[in-house]
Amino acid sequence: MTDLHRLSIRELAEGLAQAQFSSRELTAHYLKRIEKIDTQVNSYITVTAEQALAQADAADAAIKAGTASTLTGVPIAHKDIFCTQGIKTSAGSKMLDNFISPYDATVVAKGKTAGLVTLGKVNMDEFAMGSTSENPFYGATKNPWNLEHVPGGSSGGSAAVVAADLAPFSTGTDTGGSIRQPASFCGLTGLKPTYGRVSRFGMIAYASSMDQGGPMARSAEDCAYLMNVMAGHDAKDSTSIEKEVDDYVANLNGTSVKGLRIGIPKQYFNVAGLDADVKARVEESLKKLEEMGAILVEIDLNMTEAYVPTYYLIAPAEASSNLSRFDGVRYGYRCENPTDILDLYKRSRSEGFGAEVQRRILIGTYALSAGYYDAYYVKAQKVRRLIQQDFLKAFENVDVIAAPSAPTTAYKIGANLSPTEMYLGDIYTLAVNLAGLPAINAPVGFDQAQLPVGLQLIGNYWSESQLLSIVHQYQQNTDWHTKRAAIAEENA
Ligand code: GLN
Repeated sequence: MTDLHRLSIRELAEGLAQAQFSSRELTAHYLKRIEKIDTQVNSYITVTAEQALAQADAADAAIKAGTASTLTGVPIAHKDIFCTQGIKTSAGSKMLDNFISPYDATVVAKGKTAGLVTLGKVNMDEFAMGSTSENPFYGATKNPWNLEHVPGGSSGGSAAVVAADLAPFSTGTDTGGSIRQPASFCGLTGLKPTYGRVSRFGMIAYASSMDQGGPMARSAEDCAYLMNVMAGHDAKDSTSIEKEVDDYVANLNGTSVKGLRIGIPKQYFNVAGLDADVKARVEESLKKLEEMGAILVEIDLNMTEAYVPTYYLIAPAEASSNLSRFDGVRYGYRCENPTDILDLYKRSRSEGFGAEVQRRILIGTYALSAGYYDAYYVKAQKVRRLIQQDFLKAFENVDVIAAPSAPTTAYKIGANLSPTEMYLGDIYTLAVNLAGLPAINAPVGFDQAQLPVGLQLIGNYWSESQLLSIVHQYQQNTDWHTKRAAIAEENA
């Protein structure tokens, strides 16, 4: 079969179970595509061909023996922020280019238990700090819709592999929008779960109070299959929540769009910098949901102006603490010929980290230093609470909240936005992480340059099933999620 990469996750699972094709065939098919097409996209940092074929053979044996589970033999790509035993885990940094993880992240381990076949590890912004995946060490990943544009970030590789059909689905992480914004830029569906739903164990930390892993795929249905694997309590992550996991696939039609109250925040649609095409596509998608029976309700989210400054204070503060472990001593990059321990620290860190990571370590260290801690960090934490309360108040009156995922479509590679311009592009995603809420991106059309536009739906805590269900039903009534970039149509 030459078109295995066009099948949905459900079709792949069924095809494997019914022996229409083997996992080895499917895996080899993807590996061939990666070899041919990824020279243009630059999405994989590491391709684990040998291991993937061995896993595929094991999957085929399990299927034959009748011991397989739903997804046994389906390939996946992991963001290179998830630790993979025996395989390089770089977090997109020169600092960890030589790091072979001695253990698997829980998300990776759960994938193995479910029988998933790992194709490899994909590119990202260094340590997940950024919005373009223009990686200073591994190079820029390209947007499959237009190779002169970025795929978004930080999970840009995770988005590009799916949009170019170089993996059927992928894992991403979202600290301030890194699943939703690249999903939006690449025309995909991506879910950022409630903080605590997916284990952070073995996920290299950026801002621990906001980091959360989640699925990226073509459709809500595909995401639901991966959520069934990723979600759940993990004793190894103290912030993971002991709460029963939904069956996200079984619940895909579980939420009624009829009568669903969708909040439209007044403040969100008047943001300076909101692109006219993005606004128009998002409004059209809301009209569609209205036709399907939803009720649009205007709401106030008064803290909107505080999102960017609050996030860009708290996230760097946590990052400066988390990244202090990379000192060139036990693992990671070490400078040549250090003269003493201080020289070792200083040069290993200046040579091993890229510019954006260094910028954030500096900002975060400053904000946490004695004398500034109360004025900046403590204050930001208080504002964070107000942002959360703003959402909780809104959810007394609506079921979900709608917004664009990003004010623009994908930037050009090398656009060289200033840090402030770049940070402002995160206006629609950051508050969700500050509040710990779940949110989903769904593709809802294109701008004039044929670049994808995304709708974001934000839910109350633990409403992942509801969000997936709403998007699933939208996708049963529209076909944006079935559109493919030209490069994805290419055969290997
Ligand atoms: N773009 C945001 C940042 O640079 C979000 C990144 C993320 O979610 N990991 O921090």
